[in-house]
Amino acid sequence: MRILLVEDDPMIGKAVLDVLRSEHYAVDWVRDGLAADSALGSEKYDLVLLDLGLPKADGLQVLRLLRGRRDTVPVLVATARDAVGDRVAGLDAGADDYIVKPYDTDELLARVRALLRRSAGRGEPLISHKGLELNPATREASLQGEPLNLSPREWALLEPMLRRPGVVFSRPQLEQKLYSWKHEISSNAVEVYIHGLRKKLGADFIRTVRGLGYVIPRE
Ligand code: CA
Repeated sequence: MRILLVEDDPMIGKAVLDVLRSEHYAVDWVRDGLAADSALGSEKYDLVLLDLGLPKADGLQVLRLLRGRRDTVPVLVATARDAVGDRVAGLDAGADDYIVKPYDTDELLARVRALLRRSAGRGEPLISHKGLELNPATREASLQGEPLNLSPREWALLEPMLRRPGVVFSRPQLEQKLYSWKHEISSNAVEVYIHGLRKKLGADFIRTVRGLGYVIPRE
């Protein structure tokens, strides 16, 4: 899951970055509204954590531009404790939820998980398909009822595919799930992790669609 963090305060930004990365999200951090708009125009994110008070262009402007492009990426707006007006304006401008600063880490992570769940069109917290079950809240996986150990990167590849069986994911799409800008992309990384997943899940669980990418078949 790839997250854009928009936060101009260096200390808050660093702290949130560390929290999200420790949960194995791939996070890009930008510090002003123009950089946020440019990142959102060029990259594909699963969620945006958006501060409202930003240099160059404020968070509301970023949000209006984003929704003006009919981009439906989930947006979690960060507001100050007493700024009720900001929360209302943020929700009216197309935010999906808000969180009050200073962040409570557990609440932040729970809201992130809830938005990711909702955007995948599923209300229930567990993702299951053909005997494989993932619990994004606890990061526990099981296969045919037996506990299954997945590395963070295997999880990062598997979760989006498992949420959408039948949808083909291209290699660049899957690479985006694995890495943020700061990490080098080795050319065969996706193949390596898919290979590892097949060993754990069975050779046919993830199919290769020649020239297009990978898919978890519906049936
Ligand atoms: Ca700010």
